Amino acid sequence: MQHPVQDYLSSLVDRLRAERGGELATYIPVLAEADPEKLGVAMATVTGRVHCAGDADTEFTIQSVSKPFAYAAALVDRGAETVDDAVGLNPSGEAFNELSLEEQSKRPDNAMINAGALAVHQLLVGPFAGRQERIDRVVGLMSLLAGRRLTVDRATYESEMGASDRNLALAHMLRSHGILHDRAEDVVAGYVAQCSVLVTVRDLAVMGACLASGGVHPLTGERVLPSLFCRQVLSVMSTAGMYEAAGQWMAHVGIPAKSGVSGAVLGALPGQAGIAVFSPPLDAAGNSVRGVLAFERMSEDLNLHVMEAD
Ligand code: GLN
Repeated sequence: MQHPVQDYLSSLVDRLRAERGGELATYIPVLAEADPEKLGVAMATVTGRVHCAGDADTEFTIQSVSKPFAYAAALVDRGAETVDDAVGLNPSGEAFNELSLEEQSKRPDNAMINAGALAVHQLLVGPFAGRQERIDRVVGLMSLLAGRRLTVDRATYESEMGASDRNLALAHMLRSHGILHDRAEDVVAGYVAQCSVLVTVRDLAVMGACLASGGVHPLTGERVLPSLFCRQVLSVMSTAGMYEAAGQWMAHVGIPAKSGVSGAVLGALPGQAGIAVFSPPLDAAGNSVRGVLAFERMSEDLNLHVMEAD
């Protein structure tokens, strides 16, 4: 007999297949070639059960869903004080690639938008780390959490590097305010490699469960992150993970989450589970259309909203 959660996820995937809205991201040329029909869902509980449905073994690039994990790595490597000095804790209410900084401090608003993620990427390992060391650090942490060795997709990396004027502009802006000190090209290249890591929804759900559990790996029982840093990462995800749709997401779905332009959405429900959906067509805020719908339904059907009193 199939597990009831498994049955539920399979019927959810069937229902979502009829949804046709959204557009593929095109500003990274390789993403425009994605198959818009792909649809996968996975849920990993903090007690180590993993359930998948649909295209659960399809690999895609993690894109901005890497940001919470890079943030967690930087908090471990440099401590909260150093990280908080460089990157704020407030929602920006703006698009993910907006050229904006906090008015007083000149820090990026948070680690979930590109400006903040570039600052976070440079903080990895230590003050004198090189480009490859930082990439190894973030790919290493994501691999540890996923429970398998993850790799950078060369084609996506090259494709985004050929179209990275916006991120270079952000990096130069950060340098002009003393937030970045490395060459803009090196920080952008490292960050783009971080975004080009191949994952499946199963990987993301397990990685999310590591955050949801307060840093204890759901499959091995090993402590992989300090719980205080998981709390900080989940807090910023809940206020800024879905970009300008973050407030609406919190009201309707109520699960700390992060989306990416490849069509992935990762939710991490404290004390309960990591949940991932992959479907490439995006809405105007850059969030997966079917991903958002899937989370709205799961939140409602399974009573997952963190603000729900009963
Ligand atoms: N690599 C992408 C970028 O920097 C990630 C953006 C996203 O997933 N929203 O533009």
